[in-house]
Amino acid sequence: MSIASNLDSIKASLPENVTLVAVSKTKPVADLMEAYETGQRIFGENKIQEMADKWEQMPKDIQWHMIGHVQTNKVKFMAPFVSLIHGIDSLKLLQEINRQALKNNRIIDCLLQIHIAEEETKFGLDENELNLLLSSPEFKEMKNIRILGLMGMATFTEDQNQIKKEFIHLKSIFDSLKNRDEYGKGALQYVSTISMGMSGDYQLAIECGSTMVRIGSSIFGGR
Ligand SMILES: *Cc1c(COP(=O)(O)O)cnc(C)c1O
Repeated sequence: MSIASNLDSIKASLPENVTLVAVSKTKPVADLMEAYETGQRIFGENKIQEMADKWEQMPKDIQWHMIGHVQTNKVKFMAPFVSLIHGIDSLKLLQEINRQALKNNRIIDCLLQIHIAEEETKFGLDENELNLLLSSPEFKEMKNIRILGLMGMATFTEDQNQIKKEFIHLKSIFDSLKNRDEYGKGALQYVSTISMGMSGDYQLAIECGSTMVRIGSSIFGGR
């Protein structure tokens, strides 16, 4: 199967309100261009340097999503162009993104990563940490970031019930975030996105309310 036909069949299976992030990490520019030629404009990468290299080489109407873990000292390399940062898991990181966005005279869209998996190794905030972050005075002062919603990764398991439980958990946190009205028309007014679901579990994620799926190997082949 070609990249173009993989993309066609995945896109045909997505509801209209679900955004497809084509996860192109480790893949060469030629592969990304094949996806671009079919009309794909949103690409996800997990290393900032690799994303910046591809950004330089590729058409400028691409929206680049950083889906990996972000080191604070590397935010500056993507701040001029990144379209959405998925994996934010600390106030400190958010503050650096805000600072670099200001330097670049931009507002950078962000998703907060929630830890929903059983594995200790997956990054993300728990509910308590999320609430602490959102209620901190530092958060309320940030003017150059926009929180569009939440991102999460399910446990790496064959157990569909386990994965489903974790997706439903993320959706419930998302719903309560959307319904938080303590800010009025403040920092949370743009919350609309749940980034959950990858090649192996995106259909289940959509059933559980995902609005953004991050699909790599089913489009570009294995890594
Ligand atoms: C690599 C990656 C994906 C895509 O995984 P596939 O199984 O290849 O679809 C999605 N999300 C994140 C955070 C990733 O690192």
